[in-house]
Amino acid sequence: SAKARGGGTYHFFTKTMNESAVARLAIENDLREALKEGQFELYYQPKIELLSGKLAGLEALIRWNQPGRGFISPMQFIPVAEETGLIGKIGEWVLRRVCDQIREWDLLGLPPVSIAVNLSPRQLIEGRITETISRILDETATPASRIVLEITETVMMHEIKRSASILDELRKLGLQIAIDDFGTGYSSLAYLKRLPINSIKIDRSFVRDVTTDPDDAAITNTIIIMGHNLGLKVVAEGVETQEQLEFLREHGCDEIQGFLISEPRPANITARQIEQLSRTVASIL
Ligand code: C2E
Ligand code: MG
Ligand code: MG
Ligand code: MG
Repeated sequence: SAKARGGGTYHFFTKTMNESAVARLAIENDLREALKEGQFELYYQPKIELLSGKLAGLEALIRWNQPGRGFISPMQFIPVAEETGLIGKIGEWVLRRVCDQIREWDLLGLPPVSIAVNLSPRQLIEGRITETISRILDETATPASRIVLEITETVMMHEIKRSASILDELRKLGLQIAIDDFGTGYSSLAYLKRLPINSIKIDRSFVRDVTTDPDDAAITNTIIIMGHNLGLKVVAEGVETQEQLEFLREHGCDEIQGFLISEPRPANITARQIEQLSRTVASIL
């Protein structure tokens, strides 16, 4: 233990823990206020089909604009929301916002687009996720087929039976399921075939050096082949360069997402992107 390693270590350790507990409590209170005061916003990032250059869908990414502090990254506050259980409420807000957005864009006459929502492990495992999602879809009259749920693989490793049956329920509702950040967990490839999923997203840590690091190239290529052999759609995230795009196209990746196509943008800009994207991207491809 820390104590066994000497008094100094012990003191340092507890001090750090206290500070982080205090910081966490402060963020927790701020998060509650953020929900109440409407400080969250969704940005959207397009996914592009590599063969056609067409818009394949959008991913909704939460942004927290705290007055006086500016934008706070979800990497900072989503883990706190997870630990404190606030992720349930935040997740409901995200899904409802996405459903409202789909209706708004449909009413404007934009081409119908599907939107991916990120689900944290705790959202999937705790509470009644199927009931919650199905209620929000009903209340907003959103077809389930317009929603993709992105789930990281870690949760399913630990609770494979439970996760598989929850994912089964969600699939029966008509939702699509994607495994996010694929390759970063301790995944046995065999567990994939037990899960009712539609697509996998290759983590951007592999995509980053795919054209310079033979290991990353091999891993990316293997994920694409394996995904296809299992009948899954394969998406690459974090595509920033034309060279990465070429590699992914040569190796048969289905869809790409990343700064090369577009950063995540607020809804009003995304609306324009939805109409323009095929044209814009055709010139990159
Ligand atoms: P993620 O779902 O894997 O999302 C991809 C992240 O990579 C996003 O960061 C996106 O802005 C960023 N990104 C996209 N393209 C590129 C690129 O070409 N290069 C680089 N360097 N980065 C790129 P963001 O928006 O900060 O979100 C971070 C993570 O926070 C997400 O990772 C997701 O795990 C979580 N998150 C975001 N929104 C939500 C949400 O509404 N609910 C939950 N539960 N988690 C969320
Ligand atoms: Mg995601
Ligand atoms: Mg991802
Ligand atoms: Mg990622």
